[in-house]
Amino acid sequence: MTFTDFNFDPKLQEGLDSMGFRKPTPIQEQAIPIILNKHDLIACAQTGTGKTAAYLLPIMHQICVAKEKSLVNTLILAPTRELVQQIDQQTEGLAYFTGISSISVYGGGDGASYEQQRRSLNEGVDIIIATPGRLIAHLTSGVVKLSQLQHLILDEADRMLDMGFYDDIVRIISYLPQNRQTLLFSATMPPKIRTLSNKILREPEQINI
Ligand code: AMP
Repeated sequence: MTFTDFNFDPKLQEGLDSMGFRKPTPIQEQAIPIILNKHDLIACAQTGTGKTAAYLLPIMHQICVAKEKSLVNTLILAPTRELVQQIDQQTEGLAYFTGISSISVYGGGDGASYEQQRRSLNEGVDIIIATPGRLIAHLTSGVVKLSQLQHLILDEADRMLDMGFYDDIVRIISYLPQNRQTLLFSATMPPKIRTLSNKILREPEQINI
């Protein structure tokens, strides 16, 4: 199969073409229909499998075809600044022709000042890609409003738990509407990932790559 079989919004397909993505990888082939059908998902997948585009594409398609824009549509949580930046790069590449906006939010140096992030967040954005700790700071200060969020993605969930982000994740979720789509991607499935999944996902589909 090729990506054109998914009938994505033409502007999104243009982004795919410009990035040279033609054929979906196995995780993309399996995950995209599940996500388009608005199911929750647990996916066991390593880096390098194409997992990022597997969730970005169906979510961006839904943003493209939505009649009304919501405040912040999608939140992607990832364990490290490096991963947040990688996800943001793919988001910007795929979104290039769509008008979908994204921002990356993380702590540390690299010009990513709290003030800059605060200003961009104030202007409004479709997709936030964040490490949990820094997002909490913006949430508690009231800069980010996630009350209309449609999609939550946890990327490399096992690493986030290894790094001690469990409490931050649960706290972030307390700011989100119950009625949302939640996708969890993890390289391993230890019991603590099961516990988190049972708490935050609703009747998820499961795939293993
Ligand atoms: P990921 O596993 O999401 O980190 O993706 C690994 C790499 O594969 C990234 O550099 C993507 O840009 C690239 N990639 C993802 N999906 C495809 C695809 N269907 N065709 C070609 N390259 C892809």
